[in-house]
Amino acid sequence: MIKNKNKNKNIYLLAVLFLSYLSMSIIPDTLMAYIRPVSSKVAESLFTNIDMITPTNKDQFKYESSSSSKKDIKAFCEKLDSVFKKYNWFQDPCSSIDWTAEQRTKQGHPLIYTEFGNGQRSTMIFSGVHPDELVAIPIGFKLATYLKENPDIYTDKNIRIIIAPLLNPDGLFLDKPTRANTNGVDLNRNFFTKDWYSSAKKSWQTRPGRKRDKRVFPGYFPNSEVETLFQIRLINKFIPSKILSMHAPLGFLDYDGPGKKVASTPTEKKAKNLVYSISEKSGNYRVVQYTYYPGSLGNYAGNERSIPTVTLEFDTEDPNKFKNYWKTFLPGLMNYITYDIDQVGYNVKSMFLHPYLE
Ligand SMILES: [Zn+2]
Repeated sequence: MIKNKNKNKNIYLLAVLFLSYLSMSIIPDTLMAYIRPVSSKVAESLFTNIDMITPTNKDQFKYESSSSSKKDIKAFCEKLDSVFKKYNWFQDPCSSIDWTAEQRTKQGHPLIYTEFGNGQRSTMIFSGVHPDELVAIPIGFKLATYLKENPDIYTDKNIRIIIAPLLNPDGLFLDKPTRANTNGVDLNRNFFTKDWYSSAKKSWQTRPGRKRDKRVFPGYFPNSEVETLFQIRLINKFIPSKILSMHAPLGFLDYDGPGKKVASTPTEKKAKNLVYSISEKSGNYRVVQYTYYPGSLGNYAGNERSIPTVTLEFDTEDPNKFKNYWKTFLPGLMNYITYDIDQVGYNVKSMFLHPYLE
């Protein structure tokens, strides 16, 4: 009898442990998926008022969500032009493009993006998330200019290209550009991925040789930064068939998404081969199977939402390499854009709120 009682107790304990494990690992995400979405306006107002942020740093996290007028964007483009002059990249990178900006950074800079073509197969291209990786920025703007000048690439071809070439303008418009944004957050560690709470801070605090490295601080909570929300909103809005994000200086191409580890179905194989569409036309640029981090775009979009996501890491950050890289990678980028892949991502739409709001 006593033995039975103990056995029951053990089963009970196991059940409790199992349930707590479930609640830690699954519930936030489940909530995210099932909770009735609120309008982004309501979400924004809630977002700026949650006490989770801690009373001492709360004010840092308020952000404006006003769209930018043509005049604002013009002023932004002029500012950008002077940066391009400083690095001797190219003239007038910005003002000829029809940009949209629905959000602003803490410093008031518009978060710009533009679209080319209106087809079903969409490619989303990001650069400038880490502005100290300088050379990626002119490539993003040059690509937008190039597509504007060559509409035959996407017209009547069932293609759409969305480019957001400067995800972290605040980090660029400094005497010495930084990786992090104004709040000191690494935007490529701030996405609300399933492993954020269990791993993001821990890996930041304990990473061998780089403990508490300020350059890779993931934020006080996931999706805390307007620049992260900007990317999530773009992904939710366009549900891209594929994403490309440009960085430096690791010198490789990496793929996150369906079939990353083992590609068994034809769809997975096709998705995984995406990374070679760039490599083949860009001097067989090195392809690796790199890890993804808690809160990174590759993890959020590629791993969790199954949107084939390629990271292009140029092999230096050197701003003087811009012309070289443009020449080397343009054929690869074109091949990537026209790579015929249907939308394979699922569960793409997600709430961008902090889970503690629910
Ligand atoms: Zn980077």
